[in-house]
Parts: sequence; C-alpha cells; structure tokens
Amino acid sequence: MDLQNLLEDIVGTVQPLLGQGAPADYIPSLAAVDTQQFGISVATSDGDVFASGDADVPFSIQSISKVYALALVLAGDGDRIWKRVFREPSGNPFNSLVQLEHEDGIPRNPFINAGALVVTDRLLSIVGSSPSPVRELLRQESGNNSIDADPVVAASEAANSHRNASLAHFLASYGNLENPVDSVLEAYIDQCALEMSCTDLALASRFLANNGLRGNGTALLSPSQTKRVNAVMLTCGTYDAAGEFAYRVGLPGKSGVGGGIVAVVPNKCTICVWSPGLGRSGNSLAGVAALDEFTTRTGWSIF
Ligand code: GLU
Repeated sequence: MDLQNLLEDIVGTVQPLLGQGAPADYIPSLAAVDTQQFGISVATSDGDVFASGDADVPFSIQSISKVYALALVLAGDGDRIWKRVFREPSGNPFNSLVQLEHEDGIPRNPFINAGALVVTDRLLSIVGSSPSPVRELLRQESGNNSIDADPVVAASEAANSHRNASLAHFLASYGNLENPVDSVLEAYIDQCALEMSCTDLALASRFLANNGLRGNGTALLSPSQTKRVNAVMLTCGTYDAAGEFAYRVGLPGKSGVGGGIVAVVPNKCTICVWSPGLGRSGNSLAGVAALDEFTTRTGWSIF
C-alpha cells in the first residue's frame, strides 16, 4: 500500500467539495476560517507519518478534545464516570438542553456538550486545570510542545457560551457537577480552543489504535478501556450523523466544529482530516468524503 500516493490522490478527489458547506458560525472567530483548506495525515502504529494537503496547518480541535478528556478520566478513575454520563447516541443536537431535563441531569454520552462538561468536571477534580491535562497529553503524544489554546477562539467562545453555561448550571442543579460552573466552563472552553495540525492529532491519537499504549510504551488505558473509547466514538463521535459516518467510513471517529475528524483503525493507524466547510450535521464535508475514500481504497475498516 503506497499511503503517500493514496493521500495525494485523496487531496485531488476532494477538491470539488472545498468551499462547500459552511464553517461553524456560532463561535464568531471560527466563521472567518478559509473553507478552501484541506489536510490529511496518517500515523501508523509503528510510528510512520504520511501527510498531504494542509496537513501541517493548525486548526481549532473543538469537540475532538472530548476524546482525550474522556481517556484521561478513565485512566484516572476507571469506570466511575459512567454513573454520571450514559453512553448512548443522543439523536439530538450536541448542545441540546431538552434531553438533559428529560433524563434528570445525566447526559446521554460523553461527546455531547453536557456529557463533556461532566467529564471535564471530573478531570478538574482528579488533576486540576493547571497545566491543562488535555494539552499536556496532546503535547506529549504528538511531540509538539508548542500546542496551546488559541486565546482569540477561547474568548470568542466564552463570550457566546450561553448554551454551554445553561447546560452546566442545569447539571449543577441536578448535583452532577463537583466544581463551580465557571471553573468547568473555563476548562472546557480552553481544551476546545486547542490548536493542532492533522499531523499533531494523528500522532497524538495513536494510543487509540495501539491498545491504549502511549508513544513511550506505557499504558494510558487498558486494551479493554481503549476498545470502549473507540466504541463510544463509533456510536456517538460524529454528532447526529454517527450512523451515516459508520456506513460511509466504517471506523470510530470524532469530529469537531473546527472541521477536523480523527478516525482510528485499531492496530494499524490513526487518520486525521481537516476542512472547515461543515455539512448540516456539523461534520466536515470534505473530511468525511476523504475518510470514505481512504477506507474504500485501503479496505481498512472495522467491518
Ligand atoms: N466548543 C464547542 C461547543 O461547545 C465544541 C462543539 C463541537 O466541536 O462539537 O459548542
């Protein structure tokens, strides 16, 4: 398999899609990002990296950060988080308030905003916020020590975080937050605002393809925990389009409204794609098409 050639082919295949879709506009600073950009990187289990297009351009990882927050909480605390968050697809928008009321303050899964706020809350209790544990993990696993939150994106989200603030207050009203609402929101917004390239993210996610083993050979998660994180990515990782994503791509994946998607081929590689034009469900249009092409051409899928 000539992965480098394949990635270059894929960059050509998605060209007609660039500029279609729209960047997220509810966080004003994301709305200004050029939708003509597309990058793809593959990091293999044994450490090789293949990349093409805008693979080295940093972008806002947004909800992709929720995977690493969950991994750190499972690593620190085992299964306890599952008493406070379910793990079923939500069938509702990622920032829905209605479902939380119906389900008495237990979010449907850790990748909708309500669930991620609970996970972030637990992470704050386990390790605190300084330095940001998600940022530290991503720096260590990618080998890029300059990874940081973009203060402009964080400020833009903070100034427009009425829905997330409502969700956090709601969770607190049900006794499902351990820390003050403001501290949880701040840590959540900060990890969403991390800026990374496709290559950084593909490298930093390799523990998900490697049975939980970090780059230095130590275990972040057990093989069983890794299986479970991947399972939740498959069923809940791509908003309200996880069924369509599984159908087209056939891999666990997590997307963010910055236009990035990380996908995992267990025991083989991680793939990160990025293009800011989003489809109706909030997933990168060109990103999903690229992953579809990748798994169709390689046959690397979990099915
Ligand atoms: N920071 C974003 C929010 O809370 C993340 C959303 C996403 O990428 O899905 O709205």
